[in-house]
Amino acid sequence: MTSTEQAVETFDSLNPATDEVVGTHPVHDADAVEAAVTRARAAATWWASLGFDGRAERLRRWKGVLARRLPELCELVSAETGKPEGDAQLEIVLAIEHIEWAARNAKKVLGPKRRSSGLLLSNQVATVEYQPLGVVGVIGPWNFPVFTPLGSVAYALAAGNAVVFKPSEYTPGVGAWLVDAFAEVVGEKPVLQLVTGFGATGAALVGADVDKIAFTGSAATGKKIMAAAADRLTPVVIEAGGKDALIVDADADLDAAADAAVWGAFWNAGQTCVGVERVYVHTAVYEEFVAKLTRLAREVRPGEHYGPMTMRSQLGVVRRHIADALARGGRALVGGADAVGDRYVRPTVLVDVPEDSVAVREETFGPTVTVTRVSDMDEAIEKANDSAYGLGSTVFSRRRGMELARRLRTGMTAINAPLAFAGIATLPFGGMGESGFGRIHGPEGLREFARPKAIARQRYRMPLAMTTFARTARTDELVGKLITVLHGRR
Ligand code: NAD
Repeated sequence: MTSTEQAVETFDSLNPATDEVVGTHPVHDADAVEAAVTRARAAATWWASLGFDGRAERLRRWKGVLARRLPELCELVSAETGKPEGDAQLEIVLAIEHIEWAARNAKKVLGPKRRSSGLLLSNQVATVEYQPLGVVGVIGPWNFPVFTPLGSVAYALAAGNAVVFKPSEYTPGVGAWLVDAFAEVVGEKPVLQLVTGFGATGAALVGADVDKIAFTGSAATGKKIMAAAADRLTPVVIEAGGKDALIVDADADLDAAADAAVWGAFWNAGQTCVGVERVYVHTAVYEEFVAKLTRLAREVRPGEHYGPMTMRSQLGVVRRHIADALARGGRALVGGADAVGDRYVRPTVLVDVPEDSVAVREETFGPTVTVTRVSDMDEAIEKANDSAYGLGSTVFSRRRGMELARRLRTGMTAINAPLAFAGIATLPFGGMGESGFGRIHGPEGLREFARPKAIARQRYRMPLAMTTFARTARTDELVGKLITVLHGRR
């Protein structure tokens, strides 16, 4: 190294099951982030010029790389998060479906469309089209390091934007893999770039000259990002945490409901934004449901069905939530106070937990679930909705599924199956309240990364010229009469 070269600070990503170093990555500072954004701006013009079809072709080739090298990517996701490779495959498979959907549908959703111009301006041709924003900064979490960021990245790219992607400091290797795979199919310009580091690198991206920030992570960080983005009036999408409820009606298929609750609560060690953290069960089927749930929960084995906690610090949160539930009269039917180990947490089913316990109110993000008896579905809805969060929810009911789903104050609801909305590419994904706002996936997810451009083109001069100082008193009189005839009847 010469005296003018500076040592680049680096950090390691670790395998949370073993603490082995998976990879070493640079900590990008504000200058490096700003340089990436400047490069992205030039690349964005070129990428936009490829048009929908040109971009779709490249996105499909990217998808092909992911599909062909699936085992390699699964292994890396598993190494950095600790999740079983089968779970890694599930999130990658869903992400591939999303890339394909975004590529196939961008033109239809965002391309020019005629709109009615109305009677008074019938001489105009009205069109709207969705143009790319320019450069989108994507900040990702670690829990689904492929599926979650690609929900923003793929849709932003399909809409014609360049992207600077800052993966979580726990999964930088997965981020680098995805960006390198993209560079294999789009080698001409840095359309998708990676910046790595901790919160400060993310903050630098928010403060840079980007046209939008798509953030997925905790509500606390989301608030900081929104406040910082206000400086430049940079728009943001916030995909934050959840405290999702599953409600079980008296007529529900209890085997299916118990299976969904167990999977929704414990899958990915509960480190799932749309994981089931609360269950409300109709009193008529409460005992039977709890018996089925506990039987299934006892069969779930950490280390086999799910991995360790990816972030060691989360162990303390899970311990605190279980302790609070137990201290306030709750009982653990499975797991309990000693379920939290050094790396792994055993499945924990809690009952009789007061609604104001932190185990019911705050996001636990661990393999625990509270189960509460309710007298009817009105009470189930009321309790489920009594949350600062509003991300996903699940209903098990044979007759009233749609009605109950509509009444749940969340961005998404699954009926009679767990989390199905996340895998359906046509459905928008996002929340309300502390879960954030804005949408990824589906047509809404494409429009989130585009700017509506309205164009009115005059075809001929109207005999009743209204927008000129040459307007006559006669024109005013006729317009007044016309509007009374058109709108004044009631
Ligand atoms: P986190 O908020 O700690 O970090 C998320 C990302 O933000 C990381 O890349 C981090 O480096 C970055 N960051 C931290 N401080 C920053 C700052 N001041 N400015 C800019 N960037 C900053 O979240 P996490 O622990 O990585 O992820 C877990 C959370 O994500 C949970 O709350 C979970 O529910 C949520 N999540 C939500 C969704 C969703 O789609 N709604 C999906 C997955 C995870």
